[in-house]
Amino acid sequence: MGKAKSVGGLGFREFESFNTALLAKQAWRIIQKPLSLASQVLKVKYFPTTEFMKAKDRWLPIPTSYKVQSVSQILPRDANVASVINHTMKEWKKELVKEIFGEAEADTIIKIPISSTGVEDKLIWVGTKDGVFTVKSAYHLQKELNALRFVQPSSAITNKIEWTNCWNFQIPNAVKTFLWRACLESLSTRFNLVKKQICESSKCPICLSEAETMIHILWNCPSAMDVWSRGPAGLQKSSIRPGNFGDLLEALISTCDQDTIELFAFATRNIWHRRNLFIFENSFIHPCEVMQTAKKSLKEFKAAQPKFITSSQGMIEEDWLWKPPPPEAQGALYAVDLAIELGCSSIILEGDSLSIVKCLQQPVVRWDRVGMILNDTKSKLSGLISCDVLFVKRAANVYAHQLAKAALSIPEDVVALVVSPESLHSVTFDDV
Ligand SMILES: [Zn+2]
Repeated sequence: MGKAKSVGGLGFREFESFNTALLAKQAWRIIQKPLSLASQVLKVKYFPTTEFMKAKDRWLPIPTSYKVQSVSQILPRDANVASVINHTMKEWKKELVKEIFGEAEADTIIKIPISSTGVEDKLIWVGTKDGVFTVKSAYHLQKELNALRFVQPSSAITNKIEWTNCWNFQIPNAVKTFLWRACLESLSTRFNLVKKQICESSKCPICLSEAETMIHILWNCPSAMDVWSRGPAGLQKSSIRPGNFGDLLEALISTCDQDTIELFAFATRNIWHRRNLFIFENSFIHPCEVMQTAKKSLKEFKAAQPKFITSSQGMIEEDWLWKPPPPEAQGALYAVDLAIELGCSSIILEGDSLSIVKCLQQPVVRWDRVGMILNDTKSKLSGLISCDVLFVKRAANVYAHQLAKAALSIPEDVVALVVSPESLHSVTFDDV
């Protein structure tokens, strides 16, 4: 229930995570406004001789440590990031970076764009799109970190695992909801229908021997066992005979690996689906097919998901990983740079990415990875006598797209001001 509504919870706040989020808000204020009265009071009391946080320690866009792991033999211990930046050219000292850092770290560093207008360093919050801290985002980040702890195989999980952890499984929300309802015994089993006086017999409609509860129809019923006997070893040889479905799920979470649990989730839903087909359409799917369909659905679902990477700290969501800014943002900056280089003082910039155009038109400052590029672009545009940033529909921007595509096959930078490539002549006229 403490999960965000978007992931199937009811949006209630879980106190421990919420408190952490509120504390994070105070920390963020101290970092952002070190001269405020509150920050000064806290500094005198808790950290009188040092800074609250040395930003140079955490500057790499590599979750979850954000710290450099390579051991530098070349630079002095107190060297900072500025030592590996060429301030005249506004670019990384690539060779030095490659020499100092490990291959993966060097690659990540070189991809970080450096502001060409020399804006000051700023600490940004990775939990929101605009880089501005909110308690809500901190709360959900904390909840996700808690969830990550759950999937860490080596972490010491001291608390009892609860079936409510099913919200952390990497499975579709519909399957999670099914598990949730099965644990709460809230599906229309014969047992429940008798309680509501909708049905007279609580007997299982398939084996006709025991009362149809969730644990019976999904686990204990001979028809369900037929399905599980075709599953992975963890489920096949399971001797678990719990009293209800929630207990079963908890027992399986503690004994099976994540893949097995996820397959279990898909298969239970298929068993329930087969039971409904049997009652309402009088057809009965072979147990082999029930398990095969579950395996296939799980495989398809995984293939459609963003890739996850494993680090020493567990699973990391792709959203947290740094990605290069979209080409439209870089393109706008490049175009403005070129216009200035050519001595243009009034320009009209057209683009078909509505979000980029809107950001360039509005004064709001964003501090995420795209925002930093846009801030540079806006700063340069503000130095011109006049400039217009206009949105054009993609259909009216075919030439630019064809040109961009054609440019992919050209190894070096080429600027064509008047003459367009011959292959694009027809597109030019269509576009106009
Ligand atoms: Zn049965």
